[in-house]
Amino acid sequence: MSGLQSVIAKIEKARLAYDAHQIINLVAVSKYWETSQIIELYSQGQRAFGENKVQDLKTKHQLLEAYPLEWHFIGRIQENKINALIDLKPSLIHSIESLKLAEAFQKRLQRSGISQRVLLQINSSQEESKAGVHPQEAKEVYLAIKENCPNLILEGVMTIGAHTQDQSVIAKSFECTQKIFDSLPSASILSMGMSGDYELAIANGANLLRIGSAITP
Ligand SMILES: *Cc1c(COP(=O)(O)O)cnc(C)c1O
Repeated sequence: MSGLQSVIAKIEKARLAYDAHQIINLVAVSKYWETSQIIELYSQGQRAFGENKVQDLKTKHQLLEAYPLEWHFIGRIQENKINALIDLKPSLIHSIESLKLAEAFQKRLQRSGISQRVLLQINSSQEESKAGVHPQEAKEVYLAIKENCPNLILEGVMTIGAHTQDQSVIAKSFECTQKIFDSLPSASILSMGMSGDYELAIANGANLLRIGSAITP
């Protein structure tokens, strides 16, 4: 069984334990992979891939143009990279981390007359090293983006679980994010869960997983 198949089997088990009607999508995080490894996973049926650096997304996007892949952007965004990122037309940007960044996107999108699907990143573990809005401000920022940024199609939230082995601490960051997600009007995507914590994320309602190392081909 490939890494992808064994992870999908575990996802399915966790999904059924949570809610048999839950639909879960998987982004294969390809940031450490060569294009040949992406092609290998594509041949196994994987369609959506995620990168965390604009330049890497650009390079792999170009090299794999012949493949009908769906690209996600999951990393930190410097304002001077916004135009380059928009030009790549990623399927979804998971990492809008502030109202200021959203407004910078809005300005450029409006100028180009295009829209972009995005998620608001929440710093649910409140670790200094992590990007994202503070949980207590998340709803207000979410609503402000909806109000002020009509070219951003805001579809939900993303978080990175707490950086610890302690499952109960990781669970808290996911619970916190699910609570915020449930309070938002018309949010449909809850992006959380990586190689070490995706089953816990599913138990807390995640419907978009970002998994890299566990499925390395
Ligand atoms: C690298 C990365 C992942 C995947 O991490 P793995 O532990 O390799 O599964 C998920 N989300 C983000 C934002 C990442 O940077």
